[in-house]
Amino acid sequence: MGIAERYRAVAAEVAAACAQAGRDPSEVTLIAVSKTVGCDGVAQAMDGGARAFGENRPDQLVPKAAGFPQAAWHFIGNIQSRRIRDIVGSATLIHSLCEMRHARKIDAAAADLGKIQEVLIEVNVSGELSKSGIAPGDALAMVRECAALSHVQVRGLMTMAPAGNSAIARESFEGLAALAASIRSSLPESQAAAFDGLSMGMSGDWREAIAAGATMVRIGRAIFSDAFE
Ligand SMILES: *Cc1c(COP(=O)(O)O)cnc(C)c1O
Repeated sequence: MGIAERYRAVAAEVAAACAQAGRDPSEVTLIAVSKTVGCDGVAQAMDGGARAFGENRPDQLVPKAAGFPQAAWHFIGNIQSRRIRDIVGSATLIHSLCEMRHARKIDAAAADLGKIQEVLIEVNVSGELSKSGIAPGDALAMVRECAALSHVQVRGLMTMAPAGNSAIARESFEGLAALAASIRSSLPESQAAAFDGLSMGMSGDWREAIAAGATMVRIGRAIFSDAFE
């Protein structure tokens, strides 16, 4: 199978998993994580129907977003202060915000560019030391602090589950969904309505994420690698 075919197969599986979970497939965006391929790989995924892509490095995000402006480009990697302008210039949604100092820089860059930058706050639900993200208990305060920034809009939460154990992955995803619901219930109505995004699930655990309420799954290897099973 090539990339276009694999994209179609994954999209069909995602839709089937939504149906099985009693969810409308239109509620879940399949983000094709194209970090391991070049522009030709992106073009092949687009042939398969992909319209949302994820990148974890600004050096890849910027040229690909410029080359495929008809797609939505999601930044899912570590944020470095000096690259924030590039990221804000290209990203539809930033999934990996976990520091207020970055939020303030994103706000300034977005103001300069005349946009409102949508972001997700990355939460380390599992507590694994190797994972980035803020502690669950700090998320509400950060959402509130970001609400004071006029060019940043927090659209929800993102997490990465520990790899290799579907029961633990499911627990992490359910934990993120519960945290998002609790934050939503303490926000003013005007903010709560837009706080609806849950980015969780990758090639190895997206089924658990959809069952737990993901609105975005970030899938790389299952689309772009012929070695993934
Ligand atoms: C690479 C990456 C993915 C995709 O992972 P796969 O296992 O290849 O599907 C998802 N999210 C983040 C943050 C990533 O860095």
